[in-house]
Amino acid sequence: MTSKTSAVIERSLQNLLEDAAYLPVLQDEIRAKAFKSLASILSTPNRMHKSFLRVPLDNGEVTRIPAFRTQHNDTLGPYKGGIRFHESVNEDEVINLAALMTLKNALHEVPFGGGKGGVAINPRNYSARELYLICKKYVQYFSDILGPDKDIPAPDVGTGEREMDWMMAEYKSINPGKPYRGSFTGKSVINGGSLGRREATGKGVYFTFRYLLHDFLQGQHGFAGSSNSFAQTVMAHAGRPLKLAVQGFGNVGSIVALEAYQCTKLQNKIVAVSDRNSTLYNAEGLDIPALIGYAQTHHGDLPNTPEGLAEANVKAEIRGREDILYLDVEVLVLAALEDQIRADNVERIKASFIVEGANAPVTGDADQILLDKGCIVIPDILANAGGVIVSYFEWLQGRETQFYSEAQVFELLHDKMKSTMNAIYPGYFGNSRSLRQICYTHAVMKLSTNLYIQGKLY
Ligand code: GLU
Repeated sequence: MTSKTSAVIERSLQNLLEDAAYLPVLQDEIRAKAFKSLASILSTPNRMHKSFLRVPLDNGEVTRIPAFRTQHNDTLGPYKGGIRFHESVNEDEVINLAALMTLKNALHEVPFGGGKGGVAINPRNYSARELYLICKKYVQYFSDILGPDKDIPAPDVGTGEREMDWMMAEYKSINPGKPYRGSFTGKSVINGGSLGRREATGKGVYFTFRYLLHDFLQGQHGFAGSSNSFAQTVMAHAGRPLKLAVQGFGNVGSIVALEAYQCTKLQNKIVAVSDRNSTLYNAEGLDIPALIGYAQTHHGDLPNTPEGLAEANVKAEIRGREDILYLDVEVLVLAALEDQIRADNVERIKASFIVEGANAPVTGDADQILLDKGCIVIPDILANAGGVIVSYFEWLQGRETQFYSEAQVFELLHDKMKSTMNAIYPGYFGNSRSLRQICYTHAVMKLSTNLYIQGKLY
């Protein structure tokens, strides 16, 4: 687990330890011991599984590919979390991402624990047939630990509906006669997936930002009169035209950009988007639907030549891919990979709001500097939970074999995220802790209470 994650968990436990109203039955020495136990439980995964998948390649060679599944904590339900295909996948990263899933589910009251998987490959270097074999092997090697009531994977970076469909089919043939629809989520709709799952993460990410700047402010929970510096920042931006930059144009970033583009509640201008090749910038705003149309027919890539821009019918300057981070914008959405804002580049960030669409895109030391600068960071476990929330709806629909309309899914998604934000935002504007810290404390409280009630602390 990264030092940032464990530091925020530790601080959460310290806050709860000092709060006399929290678990008052635990007093003095017993209380100290219980909190020490909580720290060791939450900072380590329950289990880690590692295999080397034996995969025959198209060229006739047989290779071994490192693959992981970490089961961090199942206090609140079966393990749940994506499987990532990326060349940087390693054991520590998977542990950290699994811990984030535990906290994310606890924060949003999703009845799952936290897990994460990964395969250390660049999927772009493999044919569809090889990827199919990798998916089958992953399920074969980890078949004992997966299942609708044990551990339920979903898409993550580098995987999508296609991979989940293949994996569920393999799970089904390994376990004949057993329930299988809930074994994987993020499947294609025709194969038992949920309407709206593909857009869910991006929609949820934008919703957390819009809710903060508009709905929450206008609702009964508003905070006019709060002298807190975060409240001042929100007030200073509410109702004003906002410039947005979105890093990453995959399943999350492209949907965040589209939601922002179509939003009538805020006056947004999406001045920049980026992908692994470049940043596209236009001070007057970019035509997001045209860029999505182009990416759909170009392997997910944005145009990065003048000819490409002409084909997309989009006016933009082509800049270096890192430029997106340092633009003069009010809002920066990070929807690519982890560790994008670090101690060595944080001083160059100009945005007043950072929204974490990806998991862990801001490192621990950078996070503290952003907090000191008064920047509002909507953290990953709050902002990007739309995916796992709709995965939960998919899992429920698979059990009931009863399916919801897309409108129902989005309504349920917004309701769930709204109730989390209504529980979180008042505390945020009432003191000077970071939003990340408040979200973690809330999640850790839920987990700790359950661990105590379940008799795991003595
Ligand atoms: N991979 C996504 C996440 O990090 C979704 C997980 C899921 O749907 O289980 O939240």
